[in-house]
Amino acid sequence: MSAQIVPDYEAQLNAILDRCHSASLDARIPDAGELPEGYTGTLGNFPVYFPDEIAHAAGLLPVNILGGGNKLEMKHADARMGSFVCSICRSTTELGLNGTLAGLTGFVTHPICDAAKHLAGIWSRNLPDQMAEILYLPQNPNSPGAARYVAAEYQRLRAELARKVGHPISDAAIRSSIRLYNKKRRLMRELYQIRRDEPWKLSCSESYLLVRAGTRIPCEEHVELLEQALPAIRQRHVAAQDKPRVIFVGGFCEQPPLEMLETIDDACFVVDDDLLIGQRWFTEDVPEDVGDPVWALAESYIERSHASPVQHDERKPKGDYLMAMLRDGKADAAILTAAKFCEPGLDEQLFWSKDLDAAGVQYLVLEFEEKMTSFEQMAMQVETFAESLLFALA
Ligand code: SF4
Repeated sequence: MSAQIVPDYEAQLNAILDRCHSASLDARIPDAGELPEGYTGTLGNFPVYFPDEIAHAAGLLPVNILGGGNKLEMKHADARMGSFVCSICRSTTELGLNGTLAGLTGFVTHPICDAAKHLAGIWSRNLPDQMAEILYLPQNPNSPGAARYVAAEYQRLRAELARKVGHPISDAAIRSSIRLYNKKRRLMRELYQIRRDEPWKLSCSESYLLVRAGTRIPCEEHVELLEQALPAIRQRHVAAQDKPRVIFVGGFCEQPPLEMLETIDDACFVVDDDLLIGQRWFTEDVPEDVGDPVWALAESYIERSHASPVQHDERKPKGDYLMAMLRDGKADAAILTAAKFCEPGLDEQLFWSKDLDAAGVQYLVLEFEEKMTSFEQMAMQVETFAESLLFALA
């Protein structure tokens, strides 16, 4: 009888996490020659949400531009932006000006806040060779014409991209991209379900790396990585630890440094978060086999999307989705964060804290900046918070 080969799941998972880590740190844009088959260029897009499927169907690799992290030296951008502008806008501009994003075919931003809206203007003035566009997503998603408006904007983007790549973007190509991105989003939903059910098997920082890799690598490769990672995570044997269950909110646009997430992981099980929520925007699959795939994307944006501080939908009251995250993750408490100078994030924090006070839920407020490098003080705050929660729960 031949011996059965037992896969080394932990080694497999570590290799995937390493791949995701290096993909996440690499801000460089691949040259046309380095792109995988089927891609002819790259389309940069700013958080929070972007319809990747339209770029993918055009043969452009969608790259979510998430700023420069805490290793970037600022040399040019500060002269072009006020010091009161959030870090992701400044560091993204720096990456444009220092040549790191020179390979982009174009860059699309959204009017999620004044800072993001004006980024397209700064881009087109300083990088005139690149296509710079604002994709106008609706300020009022509750208007009866909202889905029609989004569909018209998506068709405008489709026409601009078709002009840029020199060929039409067919409905069939968009349908096929929707199928692929639905698969990726299903896998990410599974990832988050593991976090809610068995948070000891996957830390917040590991889950973050697995999702963040998808902001840069082709969707085809990301799907493969997630398909390999999920069974490996389920097989993980991790000793039980005495940590409180918390949710983390405030990471929807500018991203906190990885070290900050690791600091929180050390003291708490983070059972849910809103990190990179644009990558996981839809709560259900986008309809795949429909006559008009652009309408399917637009209608899903309005009808089947997560809540976020940059979408002002009356059907998603601010406190409600926070309470749903707490309830679904059986969380004991919340960590409320906001990026420095982020108006939508700071506004939301006020509503969140009011609702948590009313519900008697404990929370810790933290501010972050992508360029932070020191975490000792934050570690002390988080440890003290976790200890007080454990004491209260005992
Ligand atoms: S971090 Fe906040 S202020 Fe900055 S671009 Fe994003 S939403 Fe706007």
